[in-house]
Amino acid sequence: MERNFKQLIEEMTLEEKASLCSGLDFWHLKGIERLGIPSLMVTDGPHGLRKQSLSADHLGIYDSIPATCFPSAVGLASTWNKSLIEKVGAALGEECQAEDIAVLLGPGANIKRSPLCGRNFEYFSEDPYLSSELAASHIQGVQSQGIGTSLKHFAANNQEHRRMSVDAIVDERTLREIYLASFENAVKKGQPWTVMCSYNKVNGEYASENKTLLTDILKDEWGFEGFVVSDWGAVNERVKGLEAGLELEMPPSHGLGDKQIIQAVLDGKLSVETLDKAVERLLKIIFKVVENKKENATYDQEVHHQLAREVARESMVLLKNEDRILPLKTEGTIAVIGEFAKTPRYQGGGSSHVNPTRLENIFEEIQKAASASTVMYAQGYDLKSDEIDEKLLAEAREAAIQSEAAVLFVGLPDRYESEGYDREHLRIPANHQILIEAVAEVQPNVVVVLSNGAPVEMPWLGKVKGLLEAYLGGQALGGAIADLLFGVVSPSGKLAETFPKELRHNPSYLNFPGEGDKVEYKEGLFVGYRYYDAKGIEPLFPFGYGLSYTSFDYTNLKIDKAEIDDTETVEISVTVKNTGEAAGKEIVQLYVRDMESTVIRPEKELKSFEKIELQLGEEKEVKFILDKRAFAYYNVDIQDWHVESGVFEILVGKSSAEILLTGSIQVNSTVAVKKLVHRNTTMGDVLTNPVLSPILLEALENLKGVGPFAMAADPDADEMFQAFMKFMPLRALATFSPDKFSEAMLDSLIEKLNHQTEELRQTELR
Ligand code: BGC
Repeated sequence: MERNFKQLIEEMTLEEKASLCSGLDFWHLKGIERLGIPSLMVTDGPHGLRKQSLSADHLGIYDSIPATCFPSAVGLASTWNKSLIEKVGAALGEECQAEDIAVLLGPGANIKRSPLCGRNFEYFSEDPYLSSELAASHIQGVQSQGIGTSLKHFAANNQEHRRMSVDAIVDERTLREIYLASFENAVKKGQPWTVMCSYNKVNGEYASENKTLLTDILKDEWGFEGFVVSDWGAVNERVKGLEAGLELEMPPSHGLGDKQIIQAVLDGKLSVETLDKAVERLLKIIFKVVENKKENATYDQEVHHQLAREVARESMVLLKNEDRILPLKTEGTIAVIGEFAKTPRYQGGGSSHVNPTRLENIFEEIQKAASASTVMYAQGYDLKSDEIDEKLLAEAREAAIQSEAAVLFVGLPDRYESEGYDREHLRIPANHQILIEAVAEVQPNVVVVLSNGAPVEMPWLGKVKGLLEAYLGGQALGGAIADLLFGVVSPSGKLAETFPKELRHNPSYLNFPGEGDKVEYKEGLFVGYRYYDAKGIEPLFPFGYGLSYTSFDYTNLKIDKAEIDDTETVEISVTVKNTGEAAGKEIVQLYVRDMESTVIRPEKELKSFEKIELQLGEEKEVKFILDKRAFAYYNVDIQDWHVESGVFEILVGKSSAEILLTGSIQVNSTVAVKKLVHRNTTMGDVLTNPVLSPILLEALENLKGVGPFAMAADPDADEMFQAFMKFMPLRALATFSPDKFSEAMLDSLIEKLNHQTEELRQTELR
């Protein structure tokens, strides 16, 4: 139904308009009964609903109604499976319809700058392309059910330490290419109904009152049509926020924010038009929810539980499989060791904490799957403490001795990582580590299954044969782990983040979490694999890495054009064949490298990926389409994405560290960047430009024999002199030889050079 929002707004009093700009309570928006505007409920996600009926909080303390707990974002991301994530989104949307929820607060698209961030489990990746694509799928899935999402936390919220006061200092190019890029496609492709601004400051200004972020970039440039909601308690100055583009304050500040808005309008400090615009954005979404409401909606808990299991299987990453210890044989005796096997860690702590509809016990699922074998259990450690318990260790050793293989369930307990604080190191608890070492001493066949939301250090890795990174697998993790351990399906997850050997190898190490209320992103663009690549630091496990029970061959890389303009696209294809002994899924990754550039660029960047399923012996052609953005960097001078004409390498492989096929393409820019010549332009910059250099050389002719320019125009001048001159500004011509080269001559030279630059630009554009 076409609604006339303008007319509706005209019917509102100033007080009513202001009232819509903050919530009714912790989880509800206000309605206006006399105008038929309903009060809607929002609730946390992103991997399940946290609908609270009694006490409300944003820390996951009080209970919520049962809902399906899917794997956390870290797990969803390692599926690299867009359609599966969309399916999860749709299931979440169905649950929202059934529970009368209007907007699910998620997904989170912040970049994993440091593995220490307590909330990494809620975010997708260290790579903006991957993160943004997956967030878009999540959004599309939820919204396909007529439920809104809230893409969060916009922006540069990459740590929990001082998250409500810290100022993230990020240079413009890094902000654009890494931290904002992680949201950009999610907004453009997914068009979330709402975006949640973050708590922190970005370059000196609270995100909640940052007009550049909330209006100029998000709305005007990316075309975001919904409304911006504050993170819970992120409002600093309400009126400033509204002017910057923050439509909704949550939770409400007991009427204070509304009063400030009213007063500002009465005082003429805030225009009614600004308020009306905010109200219109709010109304559009409120009525979108109304129009998409499905009466008497229900969902099938069993079907969603099975979906949770399917996703969990794809979210886990096989990191080591020496002597092909996995899949396990179903005969013989297996020792299952570690309290996590019976008390699983399956989701993270904080506002995303879901009360699951059911929870699988990993030990029982293993027992079911290993029907013919004997499965023993030993607790191994006390989950509530880091203390080493000799009695539990002795029992674990004994169980391992009596078995053909031992599967150890270890990782990070809840208290180690959560929303609200960051970790200080990457170690697992001492009693988990000792357990691995003690068991490995008596049993050669050890498989470790990790439960954690972010990377850990593994000094014990050499002592075990198998390693499955199970992350936080959601309520159906038990069945999924059993399916993978016994080869019901082949593992197909790959890491969406780099695992460093040591914390200090991480690029943010020297500047995380910052000093006082300031954190400087000094590593710039070099986040995650971009840094390890550039520095040649071998990580423990690289970005994009993950093993399978089968093997895949890559052949026949085809690039459909040798040369394109940046307004065109190129199609790239590659043939992938399953050459192993099991069916499986493979994630094919495409990276791009700029072979020569005048600006600093990472060695390579992920620009496309595809997950495919292949039966035994089957082969498929995988196709990728690349456009300008795949080759571009953000040029801060022209405030736009720009391609420098030249050759780019196309790299296709199994991970960031295993590139199997390489080709190249020439990409030509259709945008000439006009760099004006000025007094401080260096002679080197002019001399390397083939069109401009003759003009300067001609000027230098007159200076032959004068001061430092004596040999300038001499083609035989020695290299040292040339190099020395390279970094001299043009103004030096007048400084060092005022008699021969006046300021007026300098001005006329500069004018001539700029005239030529403009002519060149016009020709390039033609
Ligand atoms: C979190 C958000 C969450 C909100 C509501 C905040 O503390 O940062 O992610 O959606 O609380 O619970």
